[in-house]
Amino acid sequence: MKSAFFINGLWVGPANGQTLPVIDPATETVIHHIPAGSAADANAAVQAARAAFDHGPWPRLTGHQRAQVLRAIAKGIRDRLPELARLEVRDNGKPLPEAEWDLADAAGCFDYYAGLAEGLDGAVEPIALPDPRFTAKAVREPIGVAGAIIPWNYPLLMAAWKVAPALAAGCCMVLKPSEHTSLTALELGEIVNAAGLPPGVLNIVTGLGAEVGQAIAEHPGVDKLAFTGSVPTGARLMATAARDVKNISLELGGKSPFVVFADSDIEKAVEWIMFGIFWNQGQVCSATSRVLVEAPLYPKLLERLLIEAQKIKIGNGLQPGTLLGPLVNDLQYRKVLAAIDRAVAQGATLACGGKAAGFETGYFVAPTVLTDVPLDAEAWCEEIFGPVVCIRPFDSEAEAIALANDSRFGLAAAVMSADTARAERVAAAFRAGIVWINCSQPTFTEAPWGGYKQSGIGRELGHWGLDNYLETKQITRLISDAPWGWYIK
Ligand code: NAD
Repeated sequence: MKSAFFINGLWVGPANGQTLPVIDPATETVIHHIPAGSAADANAAVQAARAAFDHGPWPRLTGHQRAQVLRAIAKGIRDRLPELARLEVRDNGKPLPEAEWDLADAAGCFDYYAGLAEGLDGAVEPIALPDPRFTAKAVREPIGVAGAIIPWNYPLLMAAWKVAPALAAGCCMVLKPSEHTSLTALELGEIVNAAGLPPGVLNIVTGLGAEVGQAIAEHPGVDKLAFTGSVPTGARLMATAARDVKNISLELGGKSPFVVFADSDIEKAVEWIMFGIFWNQGQVCSATSRVLVEAPLYPKLLERLLIEAQKIKIGNGLQPGTLLGPLVNDLQYRKVLAAIDRAVAQGATLACGGKAAGFETGYFVAPTVLTDVPLDAEAWCEEIFGPVVCIRPFDSEAEAIALANDSRFGLAAAVMSADTARAERVAAAFRAGIVWINCSQPTFTEAPWGGYKQSGIGRELGHWGLDNYLETKQITRLISDAPWGWYIK
């Protein structure tokens, strides 16, 4: 486990010597300390990235050359996957198979963007002009120094979603992982060094958002901010970015609906409803936390859901067979339990779940199902970010669409029906950036990821993710020898 920042290819301690404890959420024991960065550390990291961008080799390499390093990073993650996965579990709490899945995805993300980096070589777009005296072309260039600020729910995977496309584009960057889960992000420093990434291209600083995160966002040496996290922090960063008109992309929260029609297979519906809200303890931005079930199916489906939800094995993520680990930390644990209590106080019925029974230590919340949740209750409207699903019946397709879209968020939405035409119709009507038909949550590096409304601005993943880190330059050339003749006749 690393105890220093990764700046300019070296491991350096915090300027003020401060640290933050790392607590295993399953055992509540302190397993390590990470450096708590300050504005001085953020400045050192940005300066290193700035120098690497302005004077270093990375932005000047060909895409093919950068791709070799990206593939070596992917291999570096795969070579250490078992060890990194265990570290992720101890830091975040998630079950080991989920951590292994995340890390395989993170490695795949570097491989994918290696391919897109190669595609940048010679990528010149000729532009047809109506005036034969000129030719024009558009070229893509790295945007500069990127500041990437990420959350705690998928620690190394969220890092990969930003680092891989930024490096592919030729950017240099500063990465700030969440103060709650920094361990695997710090290991990435060692992996990129071994992969041959030049010093200063990727710098990693840890610490509190309000201190080191804010300092990165405010730094004039940063050209682009890429943020994943909560809506309030995203809004604050947008205001910060506005001061010097920084480019910013935002991947924020959600309260995503899952509409299940009565012609659905009940077992498949229950499986996907559970995958949509209990995977990663429900700490998933795209979690389908509002389930709408067509009335004729509702009683039977609810009965099956309650049976299956209560069978889910809760425990330390390192124990074989665990399907639901602890929440990430004490704060999140208290927030989620308080949200459940408020839901009940506002009229909801706790059909199952709440504080997990049988645990003396650890931040365990059982799979929770809330019924009869009033449409204006906080639990129906706001992101809880825990294993808590609200479920209610609906009578018509139009009602389901209206209920699904009645949210300030628009990250994801899901629909299940045996009627393909209906499923496609509802998918088209959803106001959300990510739509699943007959499933919930499967995510592919190749497909665009991001939200409508308050769920964010911009898209990650796929070629859309690379665009975040590229500028577009037009070059227009006069090819006619004839005098221009405006002033000099
Ligand atoms: P958060 O907003 O509290 O923190 C996210 C990051 O921002 C952390 O690194 C934090 O240190 C930093 N930060 C906090 N205050 C800051 C400030 N003033 N200036 C700069 N940086 C600051 O979010 P979280 O609790 O870590 O993550 C959960 C949220 O993330 C949920 O709302 C979830 O929906 C969202 N999320 C969205 C996506 C997506 O792709 N849309 C993915 C994962 C998580």
